[in-house]
Amino acid sequence: MPQTMRALVWKGSAAVELSEVPVPEVGPGQALVKMYYAGICSTDTEIITNHIAVSHPPQILGHEIFGRIAQVGPGSVTAFEVGQRVVIDTVVPCNSCAFCLSGKPEFCAVYREIGINMDGGWADYVLAPLTSLHHVPDAISDEEAALIEPLVCPFGAVDTANIRMGDTVLILGTGPAGLIYTQLARLRGAALVACTGRMPERAELAREFGADIVVADTNIEELLQLPLIRQFQGFDVIIDAVGSSETIKQAVQMAHAGSKIVWYGLKSATVNDFPVHEVIFKNLTIIGKTNTPGVWDRAINLIASGRLVLRPLLQDIRTLEEIPALLGKEEPGDLPIPIKRLIKFN
Ligand SMILES: [Zn+2]
Ligand SMILES: [Zn+2]
Repeated sequence: MPQTMRALVWKGSAAVELSEVPVPEVGPGQALVKMYYAGICSTDTEIITNHIAVSHPPQILGHEIFGRIAQVGPGSVTAFEVGQRVVIDTVVPCNSCAFCLSGKPEFCAVYREIGINMDGGWADYVLAPLTSLHHVPDAISDEEAALIEPLVCPFGAVDTANIRMGDTVLILGTGPAGLIYTQLARLRGAALVACTGRMPERAELAREFGADIVVADTNIEELLQLPLIRQFQGFDVIIDAVGSSETIKQAVQMAHAGSKIVWYGLKSATVNDFPVHEVIFKNLTIIGKTNTPGVWDRAINLIASGRLVLRPLLQDIRTLEEIPALLGKEEPGDLPIPIKRLIKFN
């Protein structure tokens, strides 16, 4: 085992730095995972460019992680073995707060997340509690495995929203989350799946993933004229995978009386002219959603079955060395922004 490793460290400026840091020492109940692929999430770019309050420099980012177990902590009682392919549920519950003790670790009062406020996967090795590991079956490729974490949060949200067969579902946004929600809504048996987005090049993929109709966000009102929507003047379930001041209001506008709204995207922290009265008079159910630890194995099974595909989301693979020059900068205007970009380790 080497003494030091490469890591991308966010040191507080609007950039990450390639640094040589000590390989973490593995303790009882922990595993050291050798990284194969790590994803880059919009949360990472938000941390780097907008310094969102959950992260404090210096910090190794990276919470979309696939690798193989390199070491298991001494004295650990576990079925995991060195060499096994694993993904990491990066949210680490404290196991001692009132929520954890009542069997609801997803509401843990102490927010700790690998790659957010604990050292993450943008490094040759990452440390994780053995209880946070999940096996990756051979049917899932290494690249797809790095996309499991971005699937898990929408997976839990769709469970909570309980999209039913025959529901009409509107998804705001065609980013990675919006496109995953599109597939999940289709798999849940929605009668109509509509998407709105800003990038025309994403519309085709949204249709491939099961969208019946994709419109530009500026033309959202056209959707109210669809035969299945006209009757109730709105959708049964609206998922905001953007979270901008505009989409938050659009979600309320496109809801009919009694609809459910999932607020998922994190773009804006505040909304001007929030339509409170409309929420009340429409009797809306609002669902806020982050992670759900209990759904990982079902999400992994669904990918392994081939019924949910993640590979088309992957549009760019880079080395660790290439990343500092790419982060914190706008993509060149004439090139489409990759839906998902992975870091490949060697
Ligand atoms: Zn993320
Ligand atoms: Zn807790």
